[in-house]
Amino acid sequence: MERIAVLTSGGDAPGMNAAVRAVVRAADAAGIVSYGVRNGYAGLIEGRLEPMDARAVSGILHLGGTTLGTARSPRFRTTEGRAEALKHLDLAGVDGLVVLGGDGSFRGADALSREGSVTVVGIPGTIDNDLSGTDFTLGFDTAVNTALELIDRIRDTAASHGRLFFVEVMGRRSGWLALYSALAGGGTEALVPERPTDIDVLRVRVQRSFALGKRFCLVIVAEGDDAGGAYEVAARVCEGTAVDYRVTTLGHVQRGGSPTMRDRVLGAVLGDAAVTALRDGADGVMVGQLRGDVVRTPLETAWSRFDRTPEDLLSLMDRLSR
Ligand code: ADP
Repeated sequence: MERIAVLTSGGDAPGMNAAVRAVVRAADAAGIVSYGVRNGYAGLIEGRLEPMDARAVSGILHLGGTTLGTARSPRFRTTEGRAEALKHLDLAGVDGLVVLGGDGSFRGADALSREGSVTVVGIPGTIDNDLSGTDFTLGFDTAVNTALELIDRIRDTAASHGRLFFVEVMGRRSGWLALYSALAGGGTEALVPERPTDIDVLRVRVQRSFALGKRFCLVIVAEGDDAGGAYEVAARVCEGTAVDYRVTTLGHVQRGGSPTMRDRVLGAVLGDAAVTALRDGADGVMVGQLRGDVVRTPLETAWSRFDRTPEDLLSLMDRLSR
């Protein structure tokens, strides 16, 4: 392997820059030339490859977002679009590609690896933590900590007024962000897509919390919950009652920000592991970390069998929120 390229795709996640830096520097240490691709698959189709040496990735380790840029590319979903991308990799003499992204990006990476001769390795980069083959995805730790900081502020005002608060966090189809935010933030309830929400049961539980002497109540709602978003859940729970409640949607503030130590270290480990996987000729795999060990998982397994929020943590949440 003499030349590799690296791109970031789909939703940005803190720690992506740390991983890009690690890819470029691990490649450099192995005598491999790196190219950075601007704006994900869209940039690859346009041939936006730029050589990157070890100095080109200076000063980005601590930055949130992705300095390479990212984009959604409908064209990459087509065979014709991917053929165009493969043509540019071929023209640059690139024989290995590292893709940082979530499940959508990995579907694309999988197709590219099947259709071309380039070796493709994925690094899990999404705040949703919804991929199989790694305990945590890049960006999840930072996003939970950001949500926590905001939830702590909401708790101050909820406690002062003795109020019921509904807080919506991101996570798409996954409840990891909501569960971890609720567990670490002392939430009263965590509503996650993995467990059907019964509004009547929730209403009784909230009333019981106040009856137990709690001054305030925090209900953390995953954006993908089956009962709807926080506004809808709040309206249904409090319908016909005189309860004074407030709703906050944390939204995109959860995405950005400087990566935590965990996301920086994970970025370093997985960036280096991706280069090793490319040199080993491991095509169509994602590198991840399971219980401290670096592991390789077929891309298709990574996106198709996503790890649901663990039952034991959901029941722990129930036991502790009393
Ligand atoms: P994420 O990787 O964060 O899940 P998206 O779902 O938006 O983000 O996917 C990022 C990009 O991956 C899309 O813009 C598209 O170019 C490509 N992609 C997504 N799904 C597929 C697919 N089924 N086949 C090929 N490419 C895909």
